[in-house]
Amino acid sequence: MDKEFEVLKEVAKRLAGDTVVSDYVRCGHVACALLTDKGNVYTGISINAKCGIGFCAEHSAIADMLKAGESRIVKIVSSSKNDVVVSCGRCLEFIRQINEENVNAKVLLKTGDVKTVDELLPIRWNLDEL
Ligand SMILES: [Zn+2]
Repeated sequence: MDKEFEVLKEVAKRLAGDTVVSDYVRCGHVACALLTDKGNVYTGISINAKCGIGFCAEHSAIADMLKAGESRIVKIVSSSKNDVVVSCGRCLEFIRQINEENVNAKVLLKTGDVKTVDELLPIRWNLDEL
């Protein structure tokens, strides 16, 4: 694992932790740290709310990135308090739709292997098919 992934993993793992916010909401079960092509790191945490209205850590990390006017992800790591977790299919599609070049974003897996978004989501929803 390269140094950048080590840093992203450490940052995400440090942010993760299951916190009770209210009777309805818990947060931080998963945290995400991403590196952009401009060399900046953005982070986010998951929010789990009743009725399935929460969102994944990748969503809030991407919102953090978009606030700074960036959209090109180079590397991304999601982690629970214990270990790296792979992004869900919804997040992989979200990452791709934010910037088409993000299909080349590298995703760290629990095994230490690295896959691109394209490898993890080879068949994607296509706007041209509507
Ligand atoms: Zn997700």
